[in-house]
Amino acid sequence: MRLESLELIGFKSFAQKTEFNFHKGLTEIVGPNGSGKSNIIEAIRWVLGEKSAKSLRGEKMSDIIFSGSDGHHSLNRAIVKLTFDNSDRYIDIDYTELSISREIFKNGENNYYINGKLCRLKDINNLFMDSGIGQGSFSIISQGNVENIFNSKPEDRRYIVETLAGIYKYKNKKQETNAKLNENKNNLIRINDIILELK
Ligand code: ATP
Repeated sequence: MRLESLELIGFKSFAQKTEFNFHKGLTEIVGPNGSGKSNIIEAIRWVLGEKSAKSLRGEKMSDIIFSGSDGHHSLNRAIVKLTFDNSDRYIDIDYTELSISREIFKNGENNYYINGKLCRLKDINNLFMDSGIGQGSFSIISQGNVENIFNSKPEDRRYIVETLAGIYKYKNKKQETNAKLNENKNNLIRINDIILELK
């Protein structure tokens, strides 16, 4: 599994279609202050489901849409696409190439896509769960995050270790199964009550 490319249209300072191709090995992005380096990382976090506009340095989510500059009028839509080489089937999906896209319109309408097909954020979260890539994973460590980890409470640190160890997925499934079990128990109680009433 390898991040192959990132495509941005209308995301923050990237008004025109811009594509970054990541080759094997280490990629370093350098540029003068204000040239958009942080915007690139924010685009990756955003497409993976970032929900907090503040953490993307905005007030509302649509603030990430290109707001205009000298010679360029503002845009109505932003779209970001991440493409992964999945030929090792690291992500359990029957495609050698996997793309995740997210678009947002000025009116706040927001859509997610897996390989071009409309989907829910939950589908993306499920796909990447425990892969180390998805939303809230530790594959992207922003400035200040390292300090946060050191200063976090033991139970929060435990969550980090569990996520990294890949057991969070099973905890999540256990929680879902327990919820269903409780629902079924309640249904059974209700059915027994009805049976008693009918007797
Ligand atoms: P530094 O090295 O100082 O951290 P950087 O290379 O990380 O800088 P960014 O913070 O990614 O730069 O980019 C900041 C630029 O993005 C600013 O010029 C800002 O005006 C521009 N920008 C941010 N949001 C938008 C937007 N919605 N529309 C247009 N431009 C935007």
